[in-house]
Parts: sequence; structure tokens; C-alpha cells
Amino acid sequence: MPVEPAIQRLIDATPGFMPRVEGAYLHELALISPGNSEHPLVEIGTYCGKSTLYLACAAKALSSTVITIDHHKGSEENYPPFPYFDQRLRHRVSQDLETFNTFRDTLRLSNLTERVMAVVGDSSNYAKLFPQGSAALVFIDGGHSSVQSWSDFIDWSPKLIQGGVLAIHDVFDDPAQGGRPPFEIVTALRHSKTFVELNQVGSLAAFICSS
Ligand code: SAH
Ligand code: MG
Repeated sequence: MPVEPAIQRLIDATPGFMPRVEGAYLHELALISPGNSEHPLVEIGTYCGKSTLYLACAAKALSSTVITIDHHKGSEENYPPFPYFDQRLRHRVSQDLETFNTFRDTLRLSNLTERVMAVVGDSSNYAKLFPQGSAALVFIDGGHSSVQSWSDFIDWSPKLIQGGVLAIHDVFDDPAQGGRPPFEIVTALRHSKTFVELNQVGSLAAFICSS
């Protein structure tokens, strides 16, 4: 069941880092997850809401909710001289990246506002407040430094319920294509007894939590 065309057009027009084929897979993963009104879909790394919309469409079908977490200041690679810097998203006064307002606009245009709860804050701090064993899906796409990537994995993978889906973005076998931490985490997951690999589409790898 693909995302409806009007939402897909909005997704395509939203700044972000989620190729269509990977977004479609994220949507599919959310649909097969055990998400419902008690078990939400959690996203780390909202940016402008591009990937959030794929999850929100699935949340609507599941009568579930997306909890999306971002401090909205951008990651290292969202600042010059990196190619993932978008001048349009720079705050006029602070000169920091500021993605919250664009995210709100994305959500408003989607009519999926009631499916999404946004947490504006640090993912590691919020993890301390979020119950273990409660999420139906955890999608990790926040800070890509080694410390932040591993922290998100260590903090957030125990939030899954049995049968929940763990999805990791920006997994590149070839170091020339992108940073190492997501690939290293996925390599560790492939040796884990708790997680069973589902598939990898593009740079989006997915596992099921078996216990
Ligand atoms: N999922 C988005 C892209 C996310 S980019 C899409 O598909 O378009 C990564 C995001 O992680 C950035 O917006 C950045 O602000 C956020 N981020 C980085 N470190 C973070 C942290 N420690 N806590 C919360 N958000 C963080
Ligand atoms: Mg990403």
C-alpha cells in the first residue's frame, strides 16, 4: 500500500535525506510493525519531517502515533563545509540551523498533525524519560558521529517491544559513500541474538527484535 499521491508530492518537496525507495521501505516497515495506540513509532532525527511523513502515514493506518525527536539544531554534517548544509534553513539571528518551523509547516500541510508528537530536545536526554519495551518501531537517523550513533543505538534499541522493528539509516558498505558508525552498528546487529535481520534497501537496514 503506497503513500497516497498528495502526501508523496509533499514529501518530495520537503528538504531532507530520504530517497523515495528508502522512504517507501520505511513506510512498509512501519506497516508491518506491531504499532498501535499503545505502542508508538519512534524516530530519532526529524529534520524537516520528510521521513516523519512516511511513518505518519503508517501510523494513521495502524491507529498509532509517531514520536519524533530532534533538537532541530542540525548535526555536524548540516553545517559548512559539508554538502548537507542548506542555507535556507539557517536562522537569521543565531546563524544556527533551525528546522523546527519548516517541520511544522510540513506537518500542517500533510493533515497528519494529530498522528505526530514532536519532542524538541536531545535524543540521549529524552531516552532517560522514555519507558523501556514500549515502542513498536525505532528509526535511528539522528547525529551520525560515532558517539551519537552508538548512544542512540544503545539508548533506543531497548525501547522496542518483542516483534518491534529497528531501522537504521545511512548504512554504507563502502566508506567512500558515507560515515562508518551506522555500518558498524549494523555489523554488530548481524552478530546479535536479540535482533534478526529483515532486509536492507539502499542505505536503510532493518531488524526485528526477537525478545
Ligand atoms: N530523518 C530526516 C533526516 C535527519 S538528519 C530525513 O529523512 O529527512 C539528522 C537530524 O538529527 C538533524 O535534524 C539533527 O538536528 C538531529 N540530531 C543530531 N543529533 C541529535 C541529538 N543528539 N538529539 C536530537 N537530534 C539530533
Ligand atoms: Mg539519514
